[in-house]
This record gives sequence, structure tokens and C-alpha cells, in this order.
Amino acid sequence: MSRFIRADLDAVKEYVPGEQPKDMRYVKLNTNESPFPPSPKVTEAVTKAAKTLNLYSDPELTALTAMTAKTYGVDAECLLMTNGSDEILNFAFCAFGSKNAPFVFPSLTYGFYPVFAELYGIPYVKIPLKSDFSIDVNDYRNVGANIAIANPNAPTGKILSVKDIETILSSNREHVVVIDEAYIDFGGESCIKLINKYDNLLVTRTFSKSFSLAGARLGFGAGDRELIKDLKKIKYSTNPYNVNSLTDAAGRAALEDYEYYMNNCSVIAKNRDFCAEELKKRGFFVTDSKANFLFASHLKLSGREYYLKLKERGVLVRYFGSTGAENFVRITVGTEEQMNTLLYETDKILAGE
Ligand SMILES: *Cc1c(COP(=O)(O)O)cnc(C)c1O
Repeated sequence: MSRFIRADLDAVKEYVPGEQPKDMRYVKLNTNESPFPPSPKVTEAVTKAAKTLNLYSDPELTALTAMTAKTYGVDAECLLMTNGSDEILNFAFCAFGSKNAPFVFPSLTYGFYPVFAELYGIPYVKIPLKSDFSIDVNDYRNVGANIAIANPNAPTGKILSVKDIETILSSNREHVVVIDEAYIDFGGESCIKLINKYDNLLVTRTFSKSFSLAGARLGFGAGDRELIKDLKKIKYSTNPYNVNSLTDAAGRAALEDYEYYMNNCSVIAKNRDFCAEELKKRGFFVTDSKANFLFASHLKLSGREYYLKLKERGVLVRYFGSTGAENFVRITVGTEEQMNTLLYETDKILAGE
């Protein structure tokens, strides 16, 4: 740290992304990427778009926004495309949080929420989960603060119904409710249509997981057009060309192949449910996940031990070590073959081999 850094930045604990080790080839089940490659149309579109990299990208992302609007049945003015969904979350905390407008979120959730809050000096309160790791909707009635909820939640994978989300929205009309739907394509019901009914709702989505585009960095926010105008203000005050032209092309091509990706999601959901059952047979506790990962613990194995032993054996999962999750690992759901490798190595570990 230099002596020039802003004094209040000193205290900010930055987000730590999952490992991307290069020392060997792992069965990589630690950062919730898709095991499936982007569709051939995406590769083709990116190659073509590379020819015009001398030009700036479209700051309005008109074509991509129109396609996204059509895909999700919302108005284009209700959308803002961003550099990953991390960027729309960043914009939301920046635009709506303040000393007088704190944030609340679950005690166990996406690790970026407290980071954004600290970055902007926004007070925040973490609301504990129930003992089964679910969110108690009653804890979020009339909270007098902005709310951020990942739905399905990460790393628990547990989901709230659209009705529950409506309860939260209608009892917090004077605050923004951010519903982070990074994992909604793996089996949950989206609340995106509610943006037409509640002007305090911001739904965030990403192409990183269900659309096999983690490396391209593409996400978006959907909300009332006035909310979106506020977020655009942050975009145009920081990074007007926030989505590069290769990613713009990749996103449009991906939406053209929507069926390919949704089919991949159902394969992943099937592998998830199969793997959860197999882990349970081996004595694991596994939460009921509707995402592309499993949150699992074993009585005879600490989360840290399981993570380290799997890593030795070439299988990488995510260990958080945060309060409430010490005994758990988060396992990304990949192909059937990858899940079988995980189960095979797990058997060896449990047998003490
Ligand atoms: C992965 C993830 C994101 C961010 O994804 P991007 O790659 O930035 O689009 C947002 N929220 C949750 C809960 C996530 O797990």
C-alpha cells in the first residue's frame, strides 16, 4: 500500500476470487463455470467481430439489448448490459447505497456484497439464515434498508419462490431490492416480470454460468426504467464502453442459440440431482440446491480436509472457511464424467486411502 491511498480504502477487504491454478490439469469444480463450451455460433461471431476491433464498441449496445429484451419479454429501456453481473451489482451499490440508505443481505451469501458496501462506505447488516440454510422471508419485511438477495442463494443453492420475493418487494417500497439471479436458469423461477409491477426491483443476471461465457464478462440488470437511468448514470460516469465488441457479439450469438444453453442447464440440473443423491448415500449432508453447485458437508471430514484431499487428487472444489460454512465445500456441477470422478475420489478419501 502506498502512502497516497485514500484513508477509508485502507479498511476495505477486497473480494477473493476462486483459484484458477495452472500447476496441473484439475477437474475444475470450484468457480461454477459451465463444463460446456460456447456454441459454434459464438466462436464464429467473435472471430468476425475481431475484424473491427479498431473501432470502439457500441456504448448503447442497442442490438444486444434488443435481443435480451426480446428473450426475456421486457422493454429494452428496462435493461442495462454490463461487464459481468459483478458490474451491475457494483453500479447498484454505488447508485443506491449511502450512510442513510444501508444494505441488508443474508449472513451467508455472495461475498461481493459486503465488499461493495465497504468500498462505498455503505453501512450493512447481515441477516442470519435459518438452521436449514434457508432465508426467512419474515426477516426481510419492512427492513428500512436496501436489500440484496441471491436467488438461488450462493453458496447454499436454496431458492425463494416468486411469491416470497413479492412479499419482500411490497413491504419495502421505499428501498431497492436487488435479486441476483446468477443461477436462476438451473431450475428456479425468475422474478424478472415483476419489474413491471415494482419500481424498487432490480434483477441481475449473468451470461457467465448458464451461457458458458464466464471469460467474456457479460451480465445485465433489469428494472424500472427510472432505476435503469440511475444505473446508466454510473456507467457513463465511469466506463461508457463497458462491454467490449467481442463480448457484445458473443452475447448476441449466445441468445440466438438459447435452446442449446437451456438444454445444457437441464443436463447440469440432472447431474446435480444425481450427484446430491450419491453424496447423501455416502453420509453427506447436502442442501437442496437449485443452482449449478452443491453445498455439502460430512461428519467425519471437515470442509477444509475434504477440499485439501480432493485437491491432492486433482479435483478442485471451493472451500470458504467463513463462519457458518467451515464444514462445507461448494462443488460445481459439471459433466456426468466429472461428477463420477468426484464421487470416485470421495470414496477413496472416506476409505482413508
Ligand atoms: C458468479 C456470480 C455473480 C457474478 O458473475 P459475473 O461473472 O460477474 O457475471 C454474481 N452473483 C453471484 C451470486 C454469483 O455466483
